[in-house]
Amino acid sequence: MIIAAIDEGRAKLQPLIDSARHGVAFTGAGISTECGVPDFRSPGSPWLKNPPIEFSDFLRDPLMREEAWRRKFVMDDLYAHAKPGRGHRALQRLIASGRMNAIITQNIDGLHQASGVPDERVVELHGNGTYARCLGCGRRYELAEIRRDFEMTGAAPECTCGDHIKSATISFGQSMPEMAMQRAEEETLACDLFMAIGSSLVVYPAAGFPLAAKRHGASLVIVNREQTPLDEFADLVLRGDIGDFLEPFCA
Ligand code: NAD
Repeated sequence: MIIAAIDEGRAKLQPLIDSARHGVAFTGAGISTECGVPDFRSPGSPWLKNPPIEFSDFLRDPLMREEAWRRKFVMDDLYAHAKPGRGHRALQRLIASGRMNAIITQNIDGLHQASGVPDERVVELHGNGTYARCLGCGRRYELAEIRRDFEMTGAAPECTCGDHIKSATISFGQSMPEMAMQRAEEETLACDLFMAIGSSLVVYPAAGFPLAAKRHGASLVIVNREQTPLDEFADLVLRGDIGDFLEPFCA
């Protein structure tokens, strides 16, 4: 069933959420657009301005590493002040009330945690862009410290162990994080309600989770302003603005 009217959509969603014993949200870039962070594929996307730097190039070439850090800080300046929106706040309430068990996210903006969702309830499939890690020993680095040194030296940061430091996100060509993928799979197979929110559902393997949940008996809800390739499998499609549909759940 595809619904675009806000009141009707909210009314159809409410009983599905009320009866959920183990809800899982799966979020994409669309949940953060009202916070001022543009999504990936909509027209004019700043993320597609430059061809992405493949992980193998980052490893191979110091100039690529410098370019990756330059781009990272430009993007950070654009969205540094983004705050959680209505979608994030609604999911925070649903987690706090026990209706939702976990949020599987493709996002790297850390806005679910910023809305108050505990770290252990957020499964990050593509990492987190709010800090960095050494690719060798895994040590965590804060961005402010790295930026200060980068702006002084112009050189990409290296860890005390000698390996490269990289934003804690998953780049094109980099393997998916094993633990997050496993946890996402467990949540997907255990849930009775799976809500895909703000994703074009075209990035695999992440986009495989909604269908897996449906095949295992969960109700599938898709909230997105555009059509997605999985709409035909959903029990309910809310076709419109995420914040508008989820606002009642913020209270
Ligand atoms: P996507 O850009 O492919 O799809 C986003 C979808 O959300 C689009 O279909 C768009 O129409 C819809 N949308 C945008 N704003 C909306 C709104 N307010 N209400 C309803 N629908 C809305 O994003 P994706 O599927 O998440 O895949 C993109 C990849 O890029 C992800 O892997 C992610 O890691 C990365 N990314 C992350 C961020 C972030 O962390 N905020 C931002 C851009 C890209």
